[in-house]
Amino acid sequence: MRFASLGSGSRGNGTLVESGDTCLLIDCGFTVKETERRLARLGRSADDLSAVLVTHEHSDHIKGVGPLARKYGLSVYATHGTAQYEGMAGLPGLCEVNTHGTFLIGDVEISAVAVPHDAREPCQYVFANRGRRLGLLTDLGSITPFVIEQYRDCDALVLEFNHDSDMLAVGPYPPSLKRRVGGDWGHLNNHQAAQLLSMVEQARLQHLVMAHISEKNNTVALAEQALAAVMTHCEAVLSADQEAGFDWLAIN
Ligand SMILES: [Zn+2]
Ligand SMILES: [Zn+2]
Repeated sequence: MRFASLGSGSRGNGTLVESGDTCLLIDCGFTVKETERRLARLGRSADDLSAVLVTHEHSDHIKGVGPLARKYGLSVYATHGTAQYEGMAGLPGLCEVNTHGTFLIGDVEISAVAVPHDAREPCQYVFANRGRRLGLLTDLGSITPFVIEQYRDCDALVLEFNHDSDMLAVGPYPPSLKRRVGGDWGHLNNHQAAQLLSMVEQARLQHLVMAHISEKNNTVALAEQALAAVMTHCEAVLSADQEAGFDWLAIN
């Protein structure tokens, strides 16, 4: 398996996961034109996509899903709650997934994992192929036992380091938004992300990507600092950027 990012953050998200002939796009928070540009940067086009998987209906994840699926005739996978989003109405290739089972696309086995986030039925995804596991985990406000169970034995992990609690507290957001972002149904702060990492099998991780980093309430240096306190094994750490995402990473 390999994976790459079209961009990561509150202004748009999209991740590619690929194995053999199967190429999956997870979330599309960009316009069609912008998505095409970002796919080309990674050597792909929308014609190469096997399907689009959606995590939840916030616009930084779903904005481009309907338009892209209609233009290219793509199948879209989402939970029942996410599928209620008005922009998904009438999509011909809509497949509902449930958060307590696995499904196959090509030779990739996919688990949709329910997460606490302020959307209708949000989930995140774990991808498995030939004994290797890739976990994508962003947009959650707290860490549940189910999340730990699903993500503890990954070979690669894309993990949310959304904000630094102190920066959020003194930052530019209005009080209601600060409460939302910092709450149990908002986003992981650096400390929570580090805490999750202290509970997974770090020795197995070939790649760790810090993702969905807030441009207003966090810095890469602060995220790295929180990480350094708990990270003992994995040295292959990088951060996903809003504009550049990250280039292809292979899981061996
Ligand atoms: Zn988001
Ligand atoms: Zn969200």
